[in-house]
Amino acid sequence: MFDKEKEMTEMKNYAIIGFGCAGYHAAKAIRKNDPDGRIVVYSDTADPPFNPMLSTYYASDALPLEGTFPFGSMEEIVKDFQLELHSETEAVHVDAAKKEIELADGTRKRFDSILVATGASAVVPASLTENAGRFFLMRTLKDAQNLRNHIEKENVKSAVVIGASMAGIKTAEIFYRKGIPTTLIDGASGLFPLAAYPDVAAMMQAKLNDLKIAQIYNAQVAAIRSNTVELSDGRTLEADCICLCIGVHANIQLVANTKAVEGTEIKIGKGIIVNEQMQTNVPGIFAAGDCCEGKNLQTGETSVIGLWANAGAQGECAGKNMAGKEAVYYGNILHNITHFMDMDFISLGDISLPGEHRRFTGKDFLVEVCMDAGRLNSINIFGQYRISGILKSHLTKRLLHGESTLTPAQRGMLLAEGLPAELINLLGDKES
Ligand SMILES: Cc1cc2nc3c(=O)[nH]c(=O)nc-3n(C[C@H](O)[C@H](O)[C@H](O)COP(=O)(O)OP(=O)(O)OC[C@H]3O[C@@H](n4cnc5c(N)ncnc54)[C@H](O)[C@@H]3O)c2cc1C
Repeated sequence: MFDKEKEMTEMKNYAIIGFGCAGYHAAKAIRKNDPDGRIVVYSDTADPPFNPMLSTYYASDALPLEGTFPFGSMEEIVKDFQLELHSETEAVHVDAAKKEIELADGTRKRFDSILVATGASAVVPASLTENAGRFFLMRTLKDAQNLRNHIEKENVKSAVVIGASMAGIKTAEIFYRKGIPTTLIDGASGLFPLAAYPDVAAMMQAKLNDLKIAQIYNAQVAAIRSNTVELSDGRTLEADCICLCIGVHANIQLVANTKAVEGTEIKIGKGIIVNEQMQTNVPGIFAAGDCCEGKNLQTGETSVIGLWANAGAQGECAGKNMAGKEAVYYGNILHNITHFMDMDFISLGDISLPGEHRRFTGKDFLVEVCMDAGRLNSINIFGQYRISGILKSHLTKRLLHGESTLTPAQRGMLLAEGLPAELINLLGDKES
């Protein structure tokens, strides 16, 4: 065999579907650990990896387009990692048995190992699909561009945002900053229903009231017609701009019904289920980011944890394992860190877990903890983002190792940030 031919047959053929945060970090890790392998990226957009967290800043004209691409231009990325890029190319099916990807135009491409990093899409309930076009979503760059164009071209004088979680509140902020009267609607009983304790939510809702943001909770949207939102209790709201931000679902269709050689199907729940190596139950098929279910350290089960840093760490772990370097991603906890309308809200851990609630207030902030048998289960912090890193690592460490003690340096930093000693002692188990 000629050297070149031998080289080609020995060279590993990696495929990455989806090129957001998870896909980017996987490509980077593969290239770092395999300088010669062939890395083929299939992306359904023409854009470089985009940060959806910045979409509302772009939609409100607070950030230029280039600012939403944290890793630079596609040309630079392709050159740096020597990628073979298929942009504006949608992958529709992963054939695990044949180790082939089927593209939307029907062509099939071979791979040795593959990462599915297809992220998530905004949820549009079946009851509203016939009204599509009447409302704006907030997930992709296209969504942000659509809203930005609408605000720029139409004389928007009123807005309704449906969904009062991370994406909804950030979308409401766009209108708030432009002085456009806005109503926030949610089917749950308060703001950040999956992350905020009821009394913390009530306090933030009062602050939004002060900012003249109208809020309607416990309200189901029945229909959106023209410029009208119809609630199931018969109320109607008129608005020049209606946004639907009620959550996301993992993009997993392309691995549904795919069978491996021995007939096993790739396991999926709400996302593609992966182990600590980010590998699915089918060897050679990996998943990372918002499309997958990795380990939730608090429940021990797998769940989708749709967060930017999580997607990056999972992508990196998958990329290393694909390239033959052993790596483990132990999992994560639910958390939410949102800066909105000059306020900071942080939630760490699963707020549905039971425990005793204690509340502490400082000069400009409030901390509420939920403790179970002397251990921190979850925490809400309002008005103090600087302490979140220490507390997240403390909670994560405890879940991973069974115990965690705050170091003297961490205690000192928490004290310096104004946390009362009583709370620090409560959190710290014992001083190390
Ligand atoms: C408004 C908003 C605010 C947010 N705020 C925060 C925050 O404060 N903190 C935080 O941690 N996280 C936040 N997030 C979540 C964070 O942005 C995501 O967790 C992260 O971007 C996930 O990265 P990903 O690579 O898994 O997916 P994505 O960024 O969704 O990338 C997936 C890529 O795959 C492509 N793709 C999908 N299907 C296919 C296919 N079949 N073929 C080819 N390509 C495909 C998509 O077009 C996309 O480019 C926010 C998200 C939004 C929308």
